[in-house]
Amino acid sequence: MAVCSLLACGQNPADEAATEIKSDAASPASDEIARADADAISSYEYKDVHSFARPDEARVVSAHLDIAVDFDSQVLTGKAALMIEREQGADEVVLDTRRLDIESVSIGADDKLEAATWDLRPEDPNLGRALVIRLPDTGQNKLLVTVAYRTSPEASGLQWLQPAQTAGKQHPFLFTQSQAIHARSWIPLQDTPGVRMTYTATVRVPAALRAVMSAANDTSNALHPDGIYQFEMPQAIPSYLIALGVGDLVFVPMSERTGVFAEPDIAQAAAREFADTERMLQISEKLYGPYRWGRYDLLILPPSFPFGGMENPRLSFITPTVIAGDKSLVSLIAHELAHSWSGNLVTNATWRDLWLNEGFTSFLTTRIMEAVYGKARADMEYYLDLQGLREQMATLDINDQMLAIDSTGRDPDDVFSNVPYTKGQMFLSWLEQQYGREAFDVFLREYFDKFAFTSITTDEFLAYLDAELMSRHPGKVTRAQIDQWVFAGGLPSTDMVPESDAFSSIDTLSSAWVDRMMGLDEIDTRGWSVHEWLYFLNNLPTTLSTEDLRALDAAFDLTRSTNSEIAHSWFRHVIRNNYAPAYSQLEEYLIRIGRRKLIVPLYQELVKTPENRQFAERVYALARPGYHPLAQGTVDAIISKSEGE
Ligand SMILES: [Zn+2]
Repeated sequence: MAVCSLLACGQNPADEAATEIKSDAASPASDEIARADADAISSYEYKDVHSFARPDEARVVSAHLDIAVDFDSQVLTGKAALMIEREQGADEVVLDTRRLDIESVSIGADDKLEAATWDLRPEDPNLGRALVIRLPDTGQNKLLVTVAYRTSPEASGLQWLQPAQTAGKQHPFLFTQSQAIHARSWIPLQDTPGVRMTYTATVRVPAALRAVMSAANDTSNALHPDGIYQFEMPQAIPSYLIALGVGDLVFVPMSERTGVFAEPDIAQAAAREFADTERMLQISEKLYGPYRWGRYDLLILPPSFPFGGMENPRLSFITPTVIAGDKSLVSLIAHELAHSWSGNLVTNATWRDLWLNEGFTSFLTTRIMEAVYGKARADMEYYLDLQGLREQMATLDINDQMLAIDSTGRDPDDVFSNVPYTKGQMFLSWLEQQYGREAFDVFLREYFDKFAFTSITTDEFLAYLDAELMSRHPGKVTRAQIDQWVFAGGLPSTDMVPESDAFSSIDTLSSAWVDRMMGLDEIDTRGWSVHEWLYFLNNLPTTLSTEDLRALDAAFDLTRSTNSEIAHSWFRHVIRNNYAPAYSQLEEYLIRIGRRKLIVPLYQELVKTPENRQFAERVYALARPGYHPLAQGTVDAIISKSEGE
């Protein structure tokens, strides 16, 4: 049977792309890039090491889910009907599962259903279990395979919240988080970003609740009295973008095609905070081509959501910790929206290629923020991200500092860092600087058109970069420079780091205060943006006296800050310097919020001294039940590592 890369065997646009590269590969820049040769591409074999599936033999092309949501037992029960396309002679299809109870597998449509022979292979700690289903020799290359199953209450992709963990406190809440490899814990399917499928779904929920999915949603704002919701996602997406949310939700429109689903208590505040979404959408379309997904809505989740946002297509899932009241943290919306091009439209084929999603998205985010809120703000946010990257990079193994990180043998979640995001953005900013904004904008726009609705590898991107940018504008960058960005640790060049006058003047003021040349009351903070506050706090000396901390707190009321990012930066100083008056607020913060970016650095700081570690253990015992399994895993590792020391 044919073994091929997605580029050679994918849907139509990918086939065009393969031809395109073939014709342009006549003058490869180096031996390495000679892989762009058409023969080499069609025989280039990539393997997603995080999936058991063998899509080159038999692949899922569409799915219909029929599932019931049971909050009492915390399980989903139902069926996944998968349309399989197989190569000639393929007699098996392999699906990914994790802790699923498989009840039955059948083959064929309703009128001619036959029981299938199937086998669940032994469990791999990272990957779960392969479900191998025997395909009968029917002479057809398309077969409908239906799996009846139940999820486990410990499913890694599902978070079940008690009413007390929601804003309204009246109803339970369920949300899914499928990225990176958690879709398999609630749907048996080929859980690799290299396989795209369309889907439809019938979801049954308690009548007081509403279900929403990463699909066409009902925005009429009327609950369905029978609790049955139907969904259709007509564009082919990878499994990690299949998403479901169930709760006491209302819909508030923001524009013709954007709106917010949220609990009633926070829906209006969210719609006000994110009112610029339509403008962001228009700017993105102007830069990168049409928005191809119909509506763009937001689902605001309870604060235990482990991420800032998740770019589920048509319906980004968003943490409420960015509702600051002043739109200061809305770059998160720009980021999730940008994924409608980088990630959802052109997808990483494996988790090694994640930087193609996140690096491009971070770059696009800065462009969108610049267009909506001005260059000064966009530069400040980029600069803060760079500082965060440098700090984190110092703690990472050299192999995890490259863009194309090899996570073989590890859970992709354990490899999560700012590298694919901010270093990826730096790489693209560097390319933009070398080729000029105009040429680079054209390149990006064509890239999204060329690879729309396909999944590509790093190597495929590099071949395209060579053909469409490097070869067309020779002499600007070398293949060795590109390789250093993508396949080496460290940061090759920081020339493109933006200068910020606002930050320089903060440096001057804060040094003057540290050197006792001026008092805090002499620093004019009126008009400081949240980003200036973050820069000020993040760049204070790590060692501060109790008197200094008391003075800062008295002057700026930091312990009681309602901005989740400012509070986070302040609490790091609180912990490093044991500033006792802030510990009860710190405890409240760690229990209320489950977003990893905000809590993980605080736990890492806490476990450094015995006293603080005791505090961390006590507070974590209270906070843990409210955290998402992903956040639990991360914090468990921090606490248990510190116990071993
Ligand atoms: Zn992202």
